[in-house]
Amino acid sequence: MNPIGMAAASNPLPGASLSLAPTVEFVRPDLPAPAPERKVKYYRSASQIPNLPPEVAQQIEAVAQRYVFRANSYYLDLIDWNDPADPIRQLVIPRREELNDWGALDASNEASNYVVKGVQHKYRDTALVLVNSVCGAYCRYCFRKRLFMNDNDETIHDLSAAYEYIGQHTEITDVLLTGGDPLIMSTGKLRVILERFAAMPHVKTIRIGSKMPAFNPFRVTDDADLQALLREITSGPRAVYVMAHFDHPRELTPEAREGIACLIENGVRVVNQCPVIRGINDDADVLAELFTEMSLLGAPQYYLFQCRPTAGNQAYDIPITEGYQLFQQAQRKVSGLNRRARFSMSHASGKIEVVGLDAEHLYLRYHRARHPQDEGRVMVCRRDDSAHWFDDLVEVR
Ligand code: SF4
Repeated sequence: MNPIGMAAASNPLPGASLSLAPTVEFVRPDLPAPAPERKVKYYRSASQIPNLPPEVAQQIEAVAQRYVFRANSYYLDLIDWNDPADPIRQLVIPRREELNDWGALDASNEASNYVVKGVQHKYRDTALVLVNSVCGAYCRYCFRKRLFMNDNDETIHDLSAAYEYIGQHTEITDVLLTGGDPLIMSTGKLRVILERFAAMPHVKTIRIGSKMPAFNPFRVTDDADLQALLREITSGPRAVYVMAHFDHPRELTPEAREGIACLIENGVRVVNQCPVIRGINDDADVLAELFTEMSLLGAPQYYLFQCRPTAGNQAYDIPITEGYQLFQQAQRKVSGLNRRARFSMSHASGKIEVVGLDAEHLYLRYHRARHPQDEGRVMVCRRDDSAHWFDDLVEVR
């Protein structure tokens, strides 16, 4: 399968003539029947979406002019089109409210983390490399939607400067490949990147942030070259993690489950992380089922994120206290093994975990901090049920 998941059409060889002679098929009863070819078709315009009434498509085209639309046939097939509130629909189909004037394009000020083009180095031991600016579909609540805009040049195609910087900074033990979605790249390109980082003795862990197991699991299950690459890298001293992004148990189709299993069989460790999003997973039962199922699949939930106040996200965002209460309720519904997630805000100053709530206060702690003096610092803030982000809170001690 090619990088965007579409099988190439098979063309007859030039000069080949058609034979009208009857063909004889030889069936080997000792071999399993070949798996049917699994094609995924990509859509870049709302008007191309089957099942969407033209007048609705027209309305959302205006939204897609500002925040680009992309989806594929596999993922769109998960939508119950009779349900306007369907969570998969909310995740990929644009809504007019995205045009509301709210939030900032770079809500966590990632711009301040760049050390060379395409490389963010915010925490001492971890570097982010933005390897591309395309995903299998575009989540409407994406905090990096700025990358998909025409004038953005934060990602890199030539990684020379990234190899040089990370090679020289031996304090970096973890490299996170992100974007965009690294798994939408061709396996050949991915091979070059993984081999370069795996050859650096100080890099112990390579993480791949990807929603492809949810958006198009065939990218994993149907690419023997990718599987071989993952086996090669993970048979060495480096750990490879896929930081998967499943938002709702409905995404856990048999194919997606097969994709997760395939990654694990090929030596990859898988964890899941997602934001809590209005209309998608703002339900304790849904979150509990997601945590449990992911854990059973060997891909436990690592973070549940507070949605960043990114431009276009007003309709998807929920206040911090509501998000934390949903998280707590979900945690209470699952066994200890499935309670490994943290509820966290990816703020410009660090990963801030929400650790408690009472009638008057919200208790926070830096899980990761940009400045070493903040590492592990506990903060007590005045409870404000309308606050959406750390900046909205007032610290009282
Ligand atoms: S997969 Fe991640 S980067 Fe891609 S659109 Fe969704 S949230 Fe954004």
